[in-house]
Amino acid sequence: MTIAVVLTVAKVATAVVSCITALMLVHIIPDLLSFKLREKFLKAKAEELDREMGIIRTQEETGRHVHMLTHEIRSTLDRHTILRTTLVEMGRTLGLAECALWMPSCSGTTLQLSHTIHSNAPLGSLVPINLPIVSKIFNSNRAERIPYNCPLASVKTQKSRYVPPEVVAIRVPLLQLTNFQINDWPELSAKSFAVMVLMLPPDSARKWRPHELELVEVVADQVAVALSHAAILEESMRARDMLMEQNIALDAARREAEMAICARNDFLAVMNHEMQTPMRAIVSLSSLLLETKLTAKQRIMVETILKSSDLLATLSNDVLDISKLGDGSLELEIAPFNLHTMFSDVVNLIKPVAAFKRLSVMVHLSPELPTGAIGDHKRLMQIILNVVGNSIKFTKEGHISITASMAKPDSLRDPYAPDFHPVLSDGSFYLAVQVKDTGCGISRQDLPHTFTKFAHSQNATSKRHSSNGLGLALSKRFVGLMQGNIWLQSEGVGKGCTTTFFVKLGIADKPNAILRRIAPPVKPNQGAQGQNSSMMYGNIAAPPFCYQSSV
Ligand code: ADP
Repeated sequence: MTIAVVLTVAKVATAVVSCITALMLVHIIPDLLSFKLREKFLKAKAEELDREMGIIRTQEETGRHVHMLTHEIRSTLDRHTILRTTLVEMGRTLGLAECALWMPSCSGTTLQLSHTIHSNAPLGSLVPINLPIVSKIFNSNRAERIPYNCPLASVKTQKSRYVPPEVVAIRVPLLQLTNFQINDWPELSAKSFAVMVLMLPPDSARKWRPHELELVEVVADQVAVALSHAAILEESMRARDMLMEQNIALDAARREAEMAICARNDFLAVMNHEMQTPMRAIVSLSSLLLETKLTAKQRIMVETILKSSDLLATLSNDVLDISKLGDGSLELEIAPFNLHTMFSDVVNLIKPVAAFKRLSVMVHLSPELPTGAIGDHKRLMQIILNVVGNSIKFTKEGHISITASMAKPDSLRDPYAPDFHPVLSDGSFYLAVQVKDTGCGISRQDLPHTFTKFAHSQNATSKRHSSNGLGLALSKRFVGLMQGNIWLQSEGVGKGCTTTFFVKLGIADKPNAILRRIAPPVKPNQGAQGQNSSMMYGNIAAPPFCYQSSV
């Protein structure tokens, strides 16, 4: 009985435990199931992450390769080195069997094999540019797969035995360089492309992966940019070399020209100096001869000799001065002098010839004109004598008036040079001189050329008066050196002429004492330094002559 009870209790207990277990299992089984599912899901996620990591790693690797290649390519600016480096680096990075570049040939109708990574490649071989495969590569900016047996891929002579290699080709744009011409590749334009061919090793069962193709595309663009930089650099270096050559040539030419100018000036100076003595002898002997008893015919002949030798002396002095002014070697001799005495010297010099032509000459020195001035007395006198000499030369009858005054800058406007603005400084003044004549005048068309040297030696007036067209050109240069200006005005032919000039002079404190030391009054027959002595030939009885001066 006891046994039966124990067994029953045990059975009941077992039943209760089984029930509890069954109840618990009902809750545990779904949990177990969801755990299994989650594990599966996590596994899938982990695999996906692995894949993504792989992609990221590949991209990083591609980026690193691109960076490395770009650095290698840009580290040089020689285009052959750029191309060679690109091919070698691409071959190494991608483990290529061959990497080659086809450049457009000079004719533009073919592509020429120009660079490879293998030295035994058939460099220089040509492929027609109009092949469909070439057009396909040119028309796409992606790396294109091409058949291993196409002409562009025939770089590597060694054939595969089992699996042919995978080959891709990509265009490399040769950028337009309008201002530059590359000697070996003259066909450069926006439409010009080179072709880069990349070959995987044969029999390796390797295929092109997308990130490798991406790398090829990026590198092709980098090569294009580096090539354009190299072309610009080459061109600018060539231009620099050319400029340097031109500079050397110019320098040599300048030295030669300077030597020629020096030689010319030396020659002129020597000739001038050597001519002075015989010229003076001719002038003084002719003057003496004129004082003797001569027939009218003989007098005319002697006067002609005198005129010609005087003209020759003036010409030789003018030419010397002009050449000195031309090379800048002429400098003013600045010293104090007596302005009033200088004008009386001028009068003394022009008096005889004016008298000879029966012209009346009036000189008016305005009262405010300072007596003492500082400047180049010799050159100033030369300007006045040139201008007055012209008036006498070009006037047949009537009168010549010379007015000298102290001018204000505003009254010194040259109608032909409105931009010229005279500026006064302390202790200086502008001497304005105006010479009016009733001579032949100047035509409107000749007026602008009066200061051009030799320009007038061929016109009818100048020929008639044996002019050489140097006097005014020379005067203008002297006036310029004295910070002044000179101009001519004429109403036209036959209506006389007015020459106006002004120069800047200093005001001297004690002019008279200094003047006597520096510029003693010139006697009529001595001339001013032998120049413009045309003013003094002929001791002819004085014609009507008027000299008004405040002196
Ligand atoms: P040249 O020294 O031969 O006289 P200039 O240079 O002094 O030459 O003068 C140039 C030209 O200007 C003269 O040939 C002449 O045609 C003209 N000319 C200058 N001054 C006068 C003037 N007062 N009257 C008429 N023509 C003048």
